[in-house]
Amino acid sequence: MKIHEYQARQLLAEAGIAVPAFAVAESVPSAVAQAKKLFDAGIKEIVIKAQVHAGGRGKAGFVKLVSNLKDAEDAASFMFSNKMVSYQTGPEGLVVSKLLIAAAETIEKEYYLAITIDRSRRTATVIASAEGGVEIEVVAEKNPAAIIKVPMHPILGLQAFQARELAFQLGFTGKQVGQAADIMMKLAKAFRDTDASLVEINPLVVTPPDAKNPDGRVLALDAKFQFDDNALFRHPELSKLFDPTEENPAELRALEFGLSYVALDGNIGCLVNGAGLAMSTMDIVKLHGGEPANFLDVGGSASEEAVTEGFRIILSDPAVKGILVNIFGGIMQCDKIARAIVISAKNVGFKVPLVVRLEGTNVAAARKILAEAQAEIPAMQTATDLTDAATRIVAAVRAATDSHAAMATR
Ligand code: GDP
Ligand code: MG
Repeated sequence: MKIHEYQARQLLAEAGIAVPAFAVAESVPSAVAQAKKLFDAGIKEIVIKAQVHAGGRGKAGFVKLVSNLKDAEDAASFMFSNKMVSYQTGPEGLVVSKLLIAAAETIEKEYYLAITIDRSRRTATVIASAEGGVEIEVVAEKNPAAIIKVPMHPILGLQAFQARELAFQLGFTGKQVGQAADIMMKLAKAFRDTDASLVEINPLVVTPPDAKNPDGRVLALDAKFQFDDNALFRHPELSKLFDPTEENPAELRALEFGLSYVALDGNIGCLVNGAGLAMSTMDIVKLHGGEPANFLDVGGSASEEAVTEGFRIILSDPAVKGILVNIFGGIMQCDKIARAIVISAKNVGFKVPLVVRLEGTNVAAARKILAEAQAEIPAMQTATDLTDAATRIVAAVRAATDSHAAMATR
């Protein structure tokens, strides 16, 4: 599960990490009011940031520094009326419904600091770089030596000496070293305490020296948390931070019915039971020249109602030009699937070719149900095995799209 920057900043602040004060606005007038408060308090420059579950906002124009109310209003209306599109979002972008507003900090230098699971080492690992602020993926590719990785002990966590050593390696000097090491230690604790899969501060910044801080201050100016969904039951307070408006609506509906659904780019909708079978079904569709439109695992014990919802979700995707049902009935009874197909044909309707391959528990009863319904579901073909099923659906989709194209050019 992902959360917004303003929520992540709150978690950092609760962990004792220095985060500048901020306000959240949900409309242009409220953003302007917040900006006015800051300007009235004598702040010369403020930062306005779109709150969406993706980074790359700076380059996309969704992080703006402004020094008067007019510019603040323009920035807010731009962000509320445009979708945020960055290298992290895909071309459809994300709708902005909240803005974070804060006094801008003067930045002397930007760093990158994150903790995530290193699966090859099987441990949490601190990832840091003195080349922060920019896309860390680009640094990783162009200058991998600029990225430092420090594995954390699985039980003892990050050790104070590791944090200090890392702070020195990153080039912090004087009092900054203690501040940076302290942030690392607190971030490591927050990572563990929240069962996070990723925490990231990019940029972690050093501000210029002032009278009170002759070596400047080390501050978090951006914050990201991702949590392990399987551990969320231990954190009801974190589950509350979930924002459904940031999720794919079809994926959310699937979640409600206990289905695992992931939308993909192709045009063959797949309804399968079991994640392994779903993966191999996608592989075999591709092997025969097709492109899967989704990953949908109805699981072992889905109800007829849930399977029907699965068909509804697949059919609601306009990109779907055909559906492949591949069921290996173990706990799942094939007749349940067959009945769900008949119900879906009545309630939703199969306007695209449907190929069904069933095997396993109650398959004889299922075949009977489908044979009896065949006349009412002309779009349906039954397949003898998986290769037959994949070949049939790829051919049917190709024929359907070819005739469509021919009609369009006529
Ligand atoms: P992201 O692009 O989505 O990761 O958004 P960030 O919060 O990281 O902001 C992008 C960039 O905006 C940062 O790397 C900074 O260079 C700049 N920025 C963000 N907040 C401030 C601020 O308070 N003061 C200044 N001067 N720049 C900021
Ligand atoms: Mg950032």
